[in-house]
Amino acid sequence: MTPSQQQESRRNFMKKLGAAGIMMSVGLPSFAYDPVLDTHSLPTGLNPVKVSANRLIRKVVGLRPYRPSGFNLDVQKLDEKTIIHNYGHGGGGISLSWGTASLAIDKIELSSKDPVAVLGAGVIGLSTAILLLKQGRPVTIYTNKLPPSTTSNVAAAFWAPVSVYEADKVDTGFMNDFNQASKISQRMFQDLVGSRYGVWWIKTYFLGGNFDFPGGKSLYPDYKHYNEESSPFSGYMETEEVHSLMIEPPIYLKALLDDFYQLGGKLIIRRFNRKSELTQLKESVIMNCTGLGANELFEDKTLIPVKGQLAVLLPQEEIQYGYVYPSYNDLLYMFPRKDGIILGGTSEKNIWTSNTDETEINRILKGHQRIAAGLKP
Ligand SMILES: Cc1cc2nc3c(=O)[nH]c(=O)nc-3n(C[C@H](O)[C@H](O)[C@H](O)COP(=O)(O)OP(=O)(O)OC[C@H]3O[C@@H](n4cnc5c(N)ncnc54)[C@H](O)[C@@H]3O)c2cc1C
Repeated sequence: MTPSQQQESRRNFMKKLGAAGIMMSVGLPSFAYDPVLDTHSLPTGLNPVKVSANRLIRKVVGLRPYRPSGFNLDVQKLDEKTIIHNYGHGGGGISLSWGTASLAIDKIELSSKDPVAVLGAGVIGLSTAILLLKQGRPVTIYTNKLPPSTTSNVAAAFWAPVSVYEADKVDTGFMNDFNQASKISQRMFQDLVGSRYGVWWIKTYFLGGNFDFPGGKSLYPDYKHYNEESSPFSGYMETEEVHSLMIEPPIYLKALLDDFYQLGGKLIIRRFNRKSELTQLKESVIMNCTGLGANELFEDKTLIPVKGQLAVLLPQEEIQYGYVYPSYNDLLYMFPRKDGIILGGTSEKNIWTSNTDETEINRILKGHQRIAAGLKP
């Protein structure tokens, strides 16, 4: 593809994102980059990812819990119980986890000693439960699945709350919550950097530019802009570079579960088939963190899956950067983790199956091969 075709393809991609509601960004770039930055020296030392089918160690599929109107933090009465929802985070649940947990907990009106039930043990349920325990409340998690068997374990998981809502389906109230949750969460993740939680700062490139900085530009420090000539990647008229946080789900979710137990949390394996079953719980406040499960349990038919597929290659310690190429029909992203080089990606709305699609795996591998081959020496 020529650079001008790429630019056209990206423009179409951004348009379709708005129409389809798979938000990679929340609008057009909201800042003017400083052209002076174009003159800074070419970064060197970007090692290429060794992309080949014989380095493939696994293929994973997850269903993102997506609502065009964004995550749900409503409070609902169910007989004597108060249900506080915290679900529907789409492609940004890891990123938003501490933030929406904090906003949801603020809605509890009980005294701090009353026990609280949390439904779900993905990143949202665990973060919510930990914040409640830190307030001194007795907490029981009820869940049918635990890490590593949750959607949260499938996430890439780069800190950027993308694909969370459709711009024309949300109001200013939601956007205030979204921006606040992003800020709270990013700040809390900063305190978790290190090997215990598997959280790291990572330099990340947006090939083609136009990244929209969901949550606010200040959350993506050390911004740089490259033109075609100065970019470390060949073939892109614009490249943007930022720093953000990388979260390693296998390490992180295990650490959250450990923290939950250490803080005195209790956990019961149980599946709820109908919301009427919740009236049997002893707790009068129930935090609903069931992710996509809320479609059935709370009959929220606006909550749909967005299927995502990843190809994971053998780890490569020398890869210290990530990149995203947000094309509509050729979405590609790469993030290095201890458990492998994560290659994405796909984004298929309203697909409920978790089958691996070999055509997509081949497209992903070919696309990343092309990007690796285009790295400038
Ligand atoms: C391929 C892919 C890549 C992604 N990349 C990123 C990324 O880079 N950054 C990012 O921030 N996010 C990313 N995400 C999105 C992120 O994974 C989700 O937003 C997040 O995991 C949702 O968390 P959750 O806790 O709501 O859901 P889940 O992890 O699904 O947890 C739901 C919990 O509720 C329980 N449950 C559900 N129904 C019931 C029931 N009826 N009874 C009892 N228990 C129930 C389940 O057992 C589970 O424990 C990605 C997702 C995918 C699929």
